[in-house]
Amino acid sequence: MGLSRYGLIIIGAGISGLSLAHYASKAGIKTLVIEKKPEPGGCLRTRRLDTGFWLELGAHTCYNSYGNLIGIIEDCGILDRLQGRKNVPFRMLVSGAVKSIPSELDFLELFCSAPRALTLKKSGQTVESYYSKIAGKKNFLRALGPVLSAVPSQRADDFPAEMLFKRRPHRKDIMKKFTIKGGLQTITDAISHSKGMELIAGARAKSVRVENSLFKVSVEGMGEFVSDGLGIAVPPSEASALLMASFPEVSRKLSSIKVVPVESVGVTVKRDAVRVAPFAGLIPADDSFYSIVSRDTVHDENYRGFSFHFKPAVGEEARLRRIREVLGTDRFEDVSGNAVILPSPVLGHEKVIDELDVLLKGKRVFLTGNYFSGLAIEDCVTRSLNEFNRLNAQS
Ligand SMILES: Cc1cc2nc3c(=O)[nH]c(=O)nc-3n(C[C@H](O)[C@H](O)[C@H](O)COP(=O)(O)OP(=O)(O)OC[C@H]3O[C@@H](n4cnc5c(N)ncnc54)[C@H](O)[C@@H]3O)c2cc1C
Repeated sequence: MGLSRYGLIIIGAGISGLSLAHYASKAGIKTLVIEKKPEPGGCLRTRRLDTGFWLELGAHTCYNSYGNLIGIIEDCGILDRLQGRKNVPFRMLVSGAVKSIPSELDFLELFCSAPRALTLKKSGQTVESYYSKIAGKKNFLRALGPVLSAVPSQRADDFPAEMLFKRRPHRKDIMKKFTIKGGLQTITDAISHSKGMELIAGARAKSVRVENSLFKVSVEGMGEFVSDGLGIAVPPSEASALLMASFPEVSRKLSSIKVVPVESVGVTVKRDAVRVAPFAGLIPADDSFYSIVSRDTVHDENYRGFSFHFKPAVGEEARLRRIREVLGTDRFEDVSGNAVILPSPVLGHEKVIDELDVLLKGKRVFLTGNYFSGLAIEDCVTRSLNEFNRLNAQS
């Protein structure tokens, strides 16, 4: 049985939960984070080998427009570990051949459609309707659709168009695109070691109840932990289950947000084992995976690494077979995987979020995650900052 009383207990140690924990503990709030997997990070998952080689199984790129994330990186004292990404291209995989993305476009159709981009608003449009209009239907089907689906590792056609790419202010003193030495999980590792924060990893939060205005979080194999405030930073399906008993209306609203599983498999090979020219990402026109993201953006003398982000329900054997076929080798130095759940928003999502925020008003439950304004890491951190400000305003 946990004896201490915390100011804030946060369930989920992905970037959303840890950024909320960062803001809270920095403000002197005694904070506990509970994570079901053996290590923090969630979608920030770096496979590290004894040889020093590392490979991203999840998120791979940050931008100088990620101002709130960069602020946390600075707070953690690891800004000097930012590492630029080599400019290698994204390509397409069409009928087994690697092709450039422009080679898959019909330029006449593009030329006729592109002027619509000047007047067409993203708001109220799906990804399919918006991009088919500004690039042409054929171009969307052949190239743009698969490329845009590679971004959230799921079929993105029905996504609200405004959730995919956002304009944000840039930090001119920071390189445009970056990763971190040792991989992006270095960020969540660093946050979880911050002063004033406790992390319990490898223990699933089972349920939440409220008693005498205190939250009681039951954790598998560890009993109950008590706090004044509760942060929920898990996928919406899991958040809905956790809040069902004590906050049924919030739970119902959360259950209306669809989710999809993403299974990623990363392989490391010696440089001479594969012939394919360096690429940042390889996007199939139609295959059992949405993309292959490579480590070619950070050159290594000895190894190359490739992460395949598979569609749901592709069995383990079929996944490995496809990896062998595409890379033309089975000389793998390392094979590892990561399974995550991602939200799958559709038009009208913004309204669901507004309604959720109304339901949360005045409650000491703080919801964060990648299902508010967008899936990007910066969207998660920004939501956490907003929820921290709401918490602060209540204290
Ligand atoms: C393959 C892939 C590539 C991506 N690439 C990029 C990129 O390059 N740049 C970018 O900006 N974004 C990228 N993203 C998106 C971004 O990484 C994610 O949206 C973001 O990291 C999600 O963070 P989160 O904390 O909201 O959720 P998650 O990372 O999913 O974290 C939720 C955590 O909660 C834990 N959890 C769940 N239930 C419980 C429970 N009951 N008890 C305790 N713990 C629980 C989970 O184990 C998990 O660790 C990518 C995502 C994926 C999957």
